[in-house]
Amino acid sequence: MSRFVVRTEKLSKVYHEGGAPLPVLIDVDVAIEFGEIVALRGPSGSGKSTLLNILGCLDRPTRGRYWLGGRDVSSLDRTAQAWVRLHYIGFVFQTFHLIAHSTALENVALPLHYAGVPREPAHAQARALLERVGLGERLDHRPNQLSGGQRQRVAVARALACKPRLILADEPTGALDTRTGQEILGLLLELHAEEKLTLVLVTHDPAVAAVAHRQIEIRDGRVVRESRSDAPAA
Ligand code: ADP
Ligand code: MG
Repeated sequence: MSRFVVRTEKLSKVYHEGGAPLPVLIDVDVAIEFGEIVALRGPSGSGKSTLLNILGCLDRPTRGRYWLGGRDVSSLDRTAQAWVRLHYIGFVFQTFHLIAHSTALENVALPLHYAGVPREPAHAQARALLERVGLGERLDHRPNQLSGGQRQRVAVARALACKPRLILADEPTGALDTRTGQEILGLLLELHAEEKLTLVLVTHDPAVAAVAHRQIEIRDGRVVRESRSDAPAA
């Protein structure tokens, strides 16, 4: 088995705006080992989210190859992509992406429902996950009854629901104040250690990047620098 959870070869993405091709990722080669924490950095518009969406099988490359856990997932159809996302990947977004009219418990149970887990065990697992992220007292609250930090905790619990190997987090602290952001980062690091996760974080925040084992910097769609941290926190 491959020691890489993620490996890409000449991954490229071209958008078409009014007919004119807009290359957003150009020949991106990245290799991420199981258990690594990687920070993806770069200016706004450099292609970080596009890359994360392809790594998360939310989108497909225009050219190039992508192996997830050793399996070529470059050209899966939508159904296969959805299966891979559900069973292999957890997402955390800057703006949480919770379902507004659903409770915290329902939000976390939803991926379990999709995975075919019956209602009762799904709710029991969702409850345990919410307790783990410190929201055992907020199970029946809806997102608008929760603070930003609490919403992101729900999103983290949801990301973990189907026991993914890979967590992709797109600026997970970007919408939070500094202290709350630190708490969410601390939570992600604890879960990384407990669950043997691989963590890829897009971030502008040097404090977030500092906890990574490795930093990958993107500019204008290309990887321009990779560096290993001297003293990662995890
Ligand atoms: P980042 O996350 O680093 O800020 P993005 O990956 O979101 O960058 O965007 C990279 C570039 O791709 C930007 O120029 C953006 O405008 C463009 N882009 C992103 N998504 C689309 C899309 N769906 N259609 C056309 N252009 C897009
Ligand atoms: Mg982005």
